[in-house]
This record gives sequence, C-alpha cells and structure tokens, in this order.
Amino acid sequence: MGRCSPVVSVALGILLLSGNPLLAQQNPRQSVIWSDNPNIADFVKNEESKLAAAQAAIATIANVQGTHTIENTVEPFDNAFMALDDAVGLAKLVREVHPDVSFREKGNEYVSKAESARKDLSLNRALYNALAAVDVSKVDAATRYYVSRRLQISRWAGVDRSEAERAKLKQLQDQLSAAQTTFIHNVDEDHRTLSVKPSELDGMPQEFLESHKPGSDGMIKLAAEADLDPILKFATHDDVRRRMFEMANNLGYPKNRELALEMLRLRFEIARLLGYASWAEYESASKMTGNAKAVETFIADLDKAARPVAERELPLLLAEKRKFDPATAELYWHDMAFLAEQVRRHKYGVDSSVLRAYLPSSAVKQGLLDVSSKFFQLEFRKEENSPVWHQSVETWDVFDQDSMIGRIYLDLYARPGKANAWETIPLRAGKVGRQLPEAVVIVNLPNPTAESPGLMEQEEMVAFFHEFGHAVHKIISGSRARWAGEHPGSSGTIEMDFIEVPSQFLEEFPQLESVLTTFARHYKTNEPLPSDLVDRVREAAAFGRGILATSDNVLSALSLDLHQRDPGKLDFDAVLNEENQRYSLLKMPPDVHLWASWFHLADYSSNYYLYDWDAMIVQDFFAQFDRKDPLAHDIATRYRRTVLETGGTMSANELVRNFLGRPQKFDAFRNWLQEEFRSLPVVTITK
Ligand SMILES: [Zn+2]
Repeated sequence: MGRCSPVVSVALGILLLSGNPLLAQQNPRQSVIWSDNPNIADFVKNEESKLAAAQAAIATIANVQGTHTIENTVEPFDNAFMALDDAVGLAKLVREVHPDVSFREKGNEYVSKAESARKDLSLNRALYNALAAVDVSKVDAATRYYVSRRLQISRWAGVDRSEAERAKLKQLQDQLSAAQTTFIHNVDEDHRTLSVKPSELDGMPQEFLESHKPGSDGMIKLAAEADLDPILKFATHDDVRRRMFEMANNLGYPKNRELALEMLRLRFEIARLLGYASWAEYESASKMTGNAKAVETFIADLDKAARPVAERELPLLLAEKRKFDPATAELYWHDMAFLAEQVRRHKYGVDSSVLRAYLPSSAVKQGLLDVSSKFFQLEFRKEENSPVWHQSVETWDVFDQDSMIGRIYLDLYARPGKANAWETIPLRAGKVGRQLPEAVVIVNLPNPTAESPGLMEQEEMVAFFHEFGHAVHKIISGSRARWAGEHPGSSGTIEMDFIEVPSQFLEEFPQLESVLTTFARHYKTNEPLPSDLVDRVREAAAFGRGILATSDNVLSALSLDLHQRDPGKLDFDAVLNEENQRYSLLKMPPDVHLWASWFHLADYSSNYYLYDWDAMIVQDFFAQFDRKDPLAHDIATRYRRTVLETGGTMSANELVRNFLGRPQKFDAFRNWLQEEFRSLPVVTITK
C-alpha cells in the first residue's frame, strides 16, 4: 500500500480536543500527520513514542489502588490500544508508499513491533483481571459491549492459560507475525518484468502502447504488478496473457514456500494450544460465522448458486476463444478477463475503450466525492498545501454539519516505489473528545498526461469506490466512537467478516444509471454517457458473475482447507489443484503457485470467504433501496445510523438484524448472480 515525507513532531502529539468533536466551534482542525522532510530517525522516534505511550497507559492501570473503574482502567486500556493501532497504521503506510526502500523496510519492522506489543496486551493477565474487575452493570450498552468483547478477545488470545502456556503463545504469535510481514514484504519487493516484442501486444489500447515504448533492444518491458490487469483484459495473444499471469502469481515464489509452511505450522500449533481442532475453527469463533462448518456451508451454497450461471457463461467464452484458436476446448484462468471483454463487446456492444473515454480519473473522483457527500450527508473539503508524502496526495477533511469529523488522504496515482495494492489504511483511530479518525485510500489510477486525462477502466472505478467505502466507514464510526478500539479493522471489536460490507456496498453506486450519469462525461466532448450505452453497460456488467464467484470459491476453499489440515503433510500445489478442480470451470496453468504471491494468505488466513459472505449481505442490504433513487434520504440515513455509526458497539449479526429487521439471507445474492441469464436462452457446452 509510498511517498515521502513524514512525520513527526506533529504526529507525536495526539491532538487533545476539548469538548464534543461534533461541535465545530470546539473542534479545531486536527493537525496533519506529516511534517516536511521527515527521515527514518523521526519515524522511529514517533513509533517508539507510541509504544512508550501504550506502556505508560498500562502502567497506570497496574498502579490503581482500590476499585477498578471506567476512568482508571478502561480509559487507559483503550488509550494503550489506540497508541498501538496508530503505530501500526503509520508503519503500514510507510511500508506501502515510501519511495525509499530502507524506509519501507523500517516501516515493515515497526508493523511487526507494534503488532507484537498489541499481542502482549491481549495476553497480559493482570490487565485482563483489572478490566474484568470493572463494574459495567450501570454503564451504557456500548461500553458494556466494548469491555466484554475486549475480555473475550483476550480469552481468544489465551489470557486465561497458565503462565508457561501464555509465554509459549506469545512466542508463537511473534514468530507468526514476523513470518506474515516477511511473506507480504517478499511479494511487495519482488518486481519482475516480462519482455515482449511489440507485435505481441496486439489488442492493447493505444494509451497503453504509448506508455510502453520498446527499449534499445526492441523489446517492451511489462511490470508484473502494474501491467497485469490491462494485459489480461486486452492482449490478444494468449501466450502473453499466460506468461503475465504466471509471473504475477509467482511473485514471492519460491521464497515464500517455507514461510507459508511456517505460518501454517505456527497457526496450527496456536489453535491446538488453545483447544481448537484447527486454525480455521479457532478463527471462525470470533467471526459472524461462528464456526468452520458455517464457512463450509456458505462455500457450498455459493457453489450451488454460481455453478449453473458459470456453466451458461462458459460456452459464450469458449466461442470467443475459438475465434482465435478454432481447435481449443479449454479455458484457463488467464483467459477469463480477455474473453469476458470479448463477450461484452460482441454480445452486449460494450467496448471498454469506448466506456473509458467517459471515465477520466478526475471526473470519477469528483463523482465519488459528490455521491458520497449526498448519500452519507457529509461534506468533503480539500486542504490545500498540506504536507504529504508525495505531491500528488490529496488531503480531504470530512465535515458533518459544519463540524470536522475526520480526514481522508487520497494517494491516487501509480508511481515507482509505491505498492501496487488498492487498499485503505487506518491511520488514526477515532475517539470522541480525544482524536478524529483518519484513513488513507491507496489506489493506482492511471496518471494524467499531456495527451490524456488518465482514463479509467470500469473495474478500476468500482474498486476506487470500494476503497472509499472503507474510509467512510472508518470516519463515520470513528467520529462517534466512545472507545478507539471500536474501529473497523483487524484489531477492533467489529467482526472481520463484516468489514467488507460498507466497501462493497459503495461499489454498487457507480453501476447505477442514476449515479453513473451524474459524472460520466466524454473527456473530449463533455457529452454525457449515452443512455443506450448505459443500458448495455449494465447488462454487460452482469456477465461473468458466475465464473468469478466459482473462481472466488477456489480461493475461499483454499484459504479454509489449508487451515483445516495437518500442516506437516501439506502440499500447497496439490491443494490448489484440488480446489480448482472442485469449484472452478477454468484450468489453472501448471506452473502457477499463487498461494505464494497471495498476501491474503498472510493477512486473512482462513477467512477469504468473507468477501463473498459480505457480498451476500450487501445484496440483501441493497435490495432494500430504490435503484432509481438510491440516495433517498430516509433509507440512506437509516443505513448510516444502523450500519456505519454503530461501528463495533454491538455484534455484526445484531447490526445486520437492526438494518434488515431479520438476519441476512442468500436470496438477493442468488438473484444478483443470476441476473444476466434471466432473459437469455439456455446454451449448452460443446466440447
Ligand atoms: Zn476491501
């Protein structure tokens, strides 16, 4: 998730706000986190001060004489986690965006260090006992939930085990954390390139060719990270697509083979020590799903719903492939994006390059801000000349009824040294009266040039909305949070398998005519998107959902099964092939070891299912909205109140029930998957 300049003296002080931060007059603008010309020493000093602040807060709890109270115990407890969460946030940001590799490595080091300190707190028995001793019978429901969830999180960590077991758990957790960060780092720093002849780039858009000129040897260099998606979508030569797919999915390989095994061994050992049959079982206990069986059931349900759709998509894709290779009978993973694009062109009359002309990145960004402003009833004000790590990074202050409630940084454009990932990093946790929440949206939009304003693919636009959805969730929930630890994130109180709901929810908007037409205009003529093209775009967007869901299921099952088996006997490639044969209709090229480049194996472990799980909830939520008027005030307000403002003050299952009036159902998701074939004839596969 780079640039440069940070930090420090400003960042050290958590700005203390007096009074209610929702009141503008009492709420001065929070200082920005970067100062000019930061260096590694400043960064380290900043991180160390946060680690020290956490220790100091915990020490006050140990010194409490007499009764433990909200003020003398829960408050410093929460402040300690806030300091550590913020230390992790800044270190992750440095790791992802700093142009200097040694700075990035220092960031990586502090991600591990701060995460380790966080685990120490979860395993600290005296701290646990102090928190458990606080009388919460007369406090508000959110505080009661917060304390009970924190105690439960500590028990999941093993705080109630013997001292020897806790020491062992801590050692295993530290090793695991180090293995995970090195695993991700190995992928991030593996910058492979593929050299191709200009003639091998048939099908690529003109803009791509203009920004990829041959070198003195006559060859064109393609980067595994930045060039993968356009090559997979447009390159006519399947050999080029295959080589790119193989290269991108082998980043970190073979280095990460041992690390992956180590992660799985450590996780297995931790789970067994804590009394669980497997890591998957252990992880599910703290999720909406509750147990691994529920995850298996979900994967099976999705297979049942998606497979018939995928089977109807397959012949359409195969027919397109046969236009290039009449004898072929097989479709590979690296064929999917290209062939789907061909189907969209020929069947639905939607050519990505035509659509792109209506999606210059600046217009999409403004559209996103406008739509979000209306829907969430917020105002975004740009801070000019605020110090940031790269001149292209934008700082947006978020206002609710004239009162600043948080800040979003937009790191929009690809550049050397910046990670290729699209992600949102929580930079500061929000806590009422103490600190406003901040988040950094990291995307890699095409850079505007003298010839072109940086035209976006539809998928990029949707992914941009997705990341912004995470940021808004973070800001709205954080601005209301009594406790910093209520934040949406892996260390907060919200279940991890809910956090992709607000982001995927926002993905729906740019796919609606009523929203898309508000900002999509031709970059040369300023003409609005023609309405017949809007219709075709909508129909075309529904194509491919079956194949995509079955491919997702391969990864969900891979993530789950790797964590249900004995790691002593694991053969990653064999498990990958097994899942692929079981769930996907596409073939995996033989030399692909995608588990090695798959950073979700490190950060989501057994929980990859959560994307589709959350997509199910999103479709159920979205079915409650009027698609012609999705920004209608009443339901938008209800969504904001019940889903976003609530943050981690209750279980996600309860939050979903509050919005829907019932638990989530699969039906709306199934309808969404089947949307494309409602009016099309049945086609059978010819082999
Ligand atoms: Zn996301």
